[in-house]
Amino acid sequence: MKRAFTRRDFLRTGVGVGAASMLAGSEGLLGGQSKKAAASSAGKPVVVASGNGIPATAKAMDLLRQGANPLDAVIAGVNIVEDDPDDTSVGYGGLPNEDGVVELDASVMYGPDHAAGAVAALRNIKNPSQVAKLVMTRTDHALLVGEGALRFAKAHGFAEENLLTDKSREIWLKWKETLSDRDNWIAPQSDKVAEELKPYIASYGTINCIAVNAKGDLAGVTTTSGLAFKLAGRVGDSPIIGAGLYIDNEVGAAGSTGRGEANILNCGSFSVVEFMRQGLSPENACLETLKRIVKTTAYQPRLIDADGLPTFGLNFYALNKKGEYGSASIWSGAKYAVHDGTKNRLIEGAYLYERKK
Ligand code: ASP
Repeated sequence: MKRAFTRRDFLRTGVGVGAASMLAGSEGLLGGQSKKAAASSAGKPVVVASGNGIPATAKAMDLLRQGANPLDAVIAGVNIVEDDPDDTSVGYGGLPNEDGVVELDASVMYGPDHAAGAVAALRNIKNPSQVAKLVMTRTDHALLVGEGALRFAKAHGFAEENLLTDKSREIWLKWKETLSDRDNWIAPQSDKVAEELKPYIASYGTINCIAVNAKGDLAGVTTTSGLAFKLAGRVGDSPIIGAGLYIDNEVGAAGSTGRGEANILNCGSFSVVEFMRQGLSPENACLETLKRIVKTTAYQPRLIDADGLPTFGLNFYALNKKGEYGSASIWSGAKYAVHDGTKNRLIEGAYLYERKK
């Protein structure tokens, strides 16, 4: 019977010898830097993030200036948002699933090694982005989910904690109590409840952060508590390489926030990077990808409004090797964070459709 080609076999072959000496170097996170992937245009570091990412871009730029590895820089950046109890879309304080349990998804990708790691439906661990990096560097896998991901995190010394803050529990409880009049939950008598819940129904929120350093090496991270009140076990696009995050160190990086299902079905971040490879600007690469997604969404009438337009939002962020950046959304009004080495600011992204009033 044919035996599977193992990692040891790989290291024994000629390719493996090259790779082994590469792994012994000092540059990459897996220990070395691919010569091919490292050939780069020198430039200045740039960090891009979703609209909730201003503290993340500031932190990541700070670290890049001190010579940090770009992946460590973006992870340290998003950790600030993961730790923030007031951000109900990421990490600690994220909105829970329909059972009231917070389940987190995250991925990381590192251009010079073309390596990635991810965790999905991870409970009780505040910084899934750090666990995703360990999946990349300390396992032979790309994605760990649920119970296995939790056990892996604990093996690496992560402490379990309750991620449900009082604020996110109360929002969940209101959602639960107002869900149906055919169960035994009774909502408080208040006209305000529906209004208060509005921003959280079909609510998406995530942080994506991508960076290029002065050598042109790219790295990225996407981390989220996913769709509010999702079914237990639902995994969004954030931990799916090619959907919520993708990097090709010869071309650029892309990430996404918004309705993960639409993104997964179209391999969105992969598509953005491929459009950049064909020569499109980062912004146009995001727009072309969104057009394709809107087109395929039309096959599902339940996701289309009376005007034939998507009922959901989706945003892409892109950065090429030269440090050019852009973002686009289905609907107008979205901003994204950019630190270009001089200024850290929110910029209005491109969009396909003007948001209806
Ligand atoms: N994309 C995330 C997901 O679908 C949520 C978001 O970005 O708001 O899980």
